[in-house]
Amino acid sequence: MIPKDEALRILHQAIPAPGHPERVDLTEALGRVLAEDAVADVDAPPFDRSAMDGYALRADDVAALPVELEVIGLVKAGDTFAGEVRPGTAVKIMTGAPVPAGYDSVQPIELCLPLGADRLRLEQAPARGANVARRGEDMREGEVVLPAGSALRALEIGMLSTLGQARPLVYPRPRVTVFATGDELIGPDEGRPGPGQIRESNGAMLTAQVLSLGLGISARFGGIVRDEVEATREAIETGLAGDVLILSGGVSMGDYDFVHHELKARGLEVLIEKVAIKPGKPLLFGRITKVDGSLLWVFGLPGNPVSSFSTFEIFVRPFLRGLMGCSGPHLLELPARLVEPMAGKAIKRTQHLPARLIFGAVGLEVRPVRWNGSGDLRGMMDANAFIIVPAGEAPPAQGATCRVIALEPDAFRLPRSNARAGS
Ligand code: AMP
Ligand code: MG
Repeated sequence: MIPKDEALRILHQAIPAPGHPERVDLTEALGRVLAEDAVADVDAPPFDRSAMDGYALRADDVAALPVELEVIGLVKAGDTFAGEVRPGTAVKIMTGAPVPAGYDSVQPIELCLPLGADRLRLEQAPARGANVARRGEDMREGEVVLPAGSALRALEIGMLSTLGQARPLVYPRPRVTVFATGDELIGPDEGRPGPGQIRESNGAMLTAQVLSLGLGISARFGGIVRDEVEATREAIETGLAGDVLILSGGVSMGDYDFVHHELKARGLEVLIEKVAIKPGKPLLFGRITKVDGSLLWVFGLPGNPVSSFSTFEIFVRPFLRGLMGCSGPHLLELPARLVEPMAGKAIKRTQHLPARLIFGAVGLEVRPVRWNGSGDLRGMMDANAFIIVPAGEAPPAQGATCRVIALEPDAFRLPRSNARAGS
């Protein structure tokens, strides 16, 4: 059993360089990760641009009020002003149009008093430079605007459009296969559980957790695997077609826990085996070298639903992010004030306790949810965070600041109105 920090260090060190990049259309780039720096090929704005409909003028001409100016033309977005700018003049200008050289400010139309078509009276003056977006103030030609390793959200996709990058170079999508092991399991489509059986939750849940990383990754659920040597082998063979294999269950010490043994028989190089965390101690992580020399990354997650869920969030998610090529794949930990008393005692493992995190009056506040342990998915549903209780420490006292892991993507969702009573 190794400490959590040590396990995370091993995990981050194991993250390989992402595979061979490819080009995709911008409309298919959501969630992909940029494989090269995106550099500005133009200044933005490309010219001094009016931010308002109004009149372009010289601040020097309107220092003494009231004042009248001669209107010598009009410029709209997409045009340039061809005339000559002289002191004592103004040009009517539309939002997005280039401010003619010689003018430095724009007075919004509603603050001007036009006197016929070619004269203008001003009783208020704009501050020098007002309502003019300066050339290059957003970005300069040659500047790196998005570094390689940026995950592409809608904003980055808009930015790439601005940069003229219609087909950005992105990393490939890792292919993840998920299996749920257990003789007691039936699928959600297999009717009511018989004696000794339970409905399986982890296959679809873990697949969804992978898919929540976005379109930069692909996942498929391979089904339920019986606690038998042959079935376990078949699952591993299926996993070998992809880049990552996630197996839930079967990694503990039971008589029918074959996952370890069969993975090792298939050449698993174990990198992590048992971590000092609760829940999730039996966590297994390693890699298998395929016949073509490429690697299959393998996670064996404990089968209790909340153990599966939390070990995915704490270990698998950052690893997958790194595999996708994201820079800074680390988990987000935040300080928050514990606003309710918390039961429990110090143990030799780091505890991750389901909790609700909210923005309170003076910052982040966290309270534990009522929870019956790692089988209690329902209790976990009320949570949007884990309180971290370090190994060897008692739970924090009410009012103390503790560290929390905010769960994505709904970390700050409002409390559910149908939260279970007492939670
Ligand atoms: P295991 O890790 O296989 O020893 O399983 C630990 C506990 O989690 C047992 O009570 C299992 O019945 C339960 N469990 C295992 N896999 C799943 C699953 N896919 N869905 C729901 N419960 C599971
Ligand atoms: Mg099992």
